[in-house]
Amino acid sequence: MKDVSIIGSGIAGIATSIRLASKGYKVKVFEHNNYPGGKINSIELDGYKFNYGPQLLTLPNLIDELYKCAGLDPKRYFKYKRKDIHCVYFWKDGTVFTAYDDKERYLKEFQSTFDVDSKTVEKYFIKSKKKYNLTNKVFLESSLHKLSTYLSLETVRSMMQLWRLDINKSLHSLNQKSFKNQHVVQMFDRYATYNGSSPYKTPGIMSIIQHLEHSFGTYIPDEGMDSIAKHLYNLANDLGVEFFFNEAIEEILTKNNQVIGVRSAKKEITSDIVVSNMDVYHTYNKLLPHLDTPINVIKNERSSSALIFYWGINGTFPNLDLHNIIFSSNYKKEFDKIFREKDISDDPTIYINISKKDIKDHAPKDKENWYVMINVPWNEDQNWDIKKSQLRKNVINKINATLSIDINSLIETEKIITPKNISNDTLSYKGALYGSSSNSKLSAFLRHPNFTNKLKNLYFVGGSVHPGGGIPLCLLSAKIVDDIISSKD
Ligand SMILES: Cc1cc2nc3c(=O)[nH]c(=O)nc-3n(C[C@H](O)[C@H](O)[C@H](O)COP(=O)(O)OP(=O)(O)OC[C@H]3O[C@@H](n4cnc5c(N)ncnc54)[C@H](O)[C@@H]3O)c2cc1C
Repeated sequence: MKDVSIIGSGIAGIATSIRLASKGYKVKVFEHNNYPGGKINSIELDGYKFNYGPQLLTLPNLIDELYKCAGLDPKRYFKYKRKDIHCVYFWKDGTVFTAYDDKERYLKEFQSTFDVDSKTVEKYFIKSKKKYNLTNKVFLESSLHKLSTYLSLETVRSMMQLWRLDINKSLHSLNQKSFKNQHVVQMFDRYATYNGSSPYKTPGIMSIIQHLEHSFGTYIPDEGMDSIAKHLYNLANDLGVEFFFNEAIEEILTKNNQVIGVRSAKKEITSDIVVSNMDVYHTYNKLLPHLDTPINVIKNERSSSALIFYWGINGTFPNLDLHNIIFSSNYKKEFDKIFREKDISDDPTIYINISKKDIKDHAPKDKENWYVMINVPWNEDQNWDIKKSQLRKNVINKINATLSIDINSLIETEKIITPKNISNDTLSYKGALYGSSSNSKLSAFLRHPNFTNKLKNLYFVGGSVHPGGGIPLCLLSAKIVDDIISSKD
């Protein structure tokens, strides 16, 4: 059976290793860090445990699928629960909205909080569902760069109904047209941030993200988000995948327009197939110096990054849940700051994640682990020391004013990470969370494909390539690459 070298053990790298090892390929994974999972990692601080990066799990069936590929029952290995509440939203004017998983309760909440009737909301849901059904097979589960995709029935079906997809208007204008209440518009605009984009630029088709959350649910793994990487790493090991940590790949070896292996500082490894889970920008620039970097990889606008405060809080807050949002008063200004000025608004939207709400050993008794995240621009060597201390003041003032508390006095331990840290820790180009942004109607087509026509047997998976960033899409990239490789053998 063929030898495969995978560069990077992010979620997509591990998922690819599982899929290919299940089919009998001999797989080696090389990882620069000393742990598997890339952005899916955790931080332990004075008795508190925090997620390093992702906190929201959707479509866990894609994780289950990996166990099924290996002929195992996922329920025996990876356990998770569906959340009753997706998110609690707060505004400065005192409005609080709880997004319930239960549809009837959710619709009632619209009526009681915003006086928006359920018919208006349902109409939006039905439209989003239609868009999802028309596009998921074509845009998310297939390569957009293979002729076979365009000859499929699904593509013909979605092309014939292009007008339904709201590609020519922004997500914000779609939401503005659908709802009069500005808090509701802001809530549905927020889904643009799930792939690091601006609602004022990303196309209306992105309302499918809202559909994914509200129709398929949000989840939390019983052992926390970092357990996703740990369990999948164990599964890969059981399938015979060999992992090499602290071993960065420095070159992809090629001969006659074909990959023949990889080289680390320690050795050369011969392989029939190479899969890069490294950020695609760095793959070209660092590992393939003799190949021109495709123009889109250079030019595509990055997705937003994050500045995160990890706070050990000496207190508990029953009005907060696992996911909480305190909205800014001027959303447009916030996104203009990020994408135009590469700066941070004085009044940012604040995301507070408290995994202790569901996982009791993530903080000591009567205390909570607050992961406080702000969407910020990608790293352009801004002075992050100055920015983070300004932002800290603004965030604390805003939390205090909205929740009527004095959070500063309750912070007993703290760590802060900036886009520069994210870039260094996970080797993501400019610390972007999701590779390139989806701030144009063509962004799906501008992302790098999962393969290249310039080098045979080289494949790409992960958040910086098709179909995009976020755990579910990274898992789908692994599936697409598995399909392409398997179809050739
Ligand atoms: C702060 C933050 C919040 C997020 N929130 C969410 C969320 O709530 N929900 C969600 O679904 N997604 C979220 N994401 C996005 C999600 O984490 C990523 O899309 C996903 O984890 C990326 O996986 P990946 O497979 O692309 O690899 P990465 O996690 O990017 O890992 C790539 C790996 O490759 C290694 N590597 C790079 N170069 C080399 C080399 N030359 N040799 C060897 N190894 C190398 C790196 O060390 C790294 O381990 C968030 C991300 C961040 C940072």
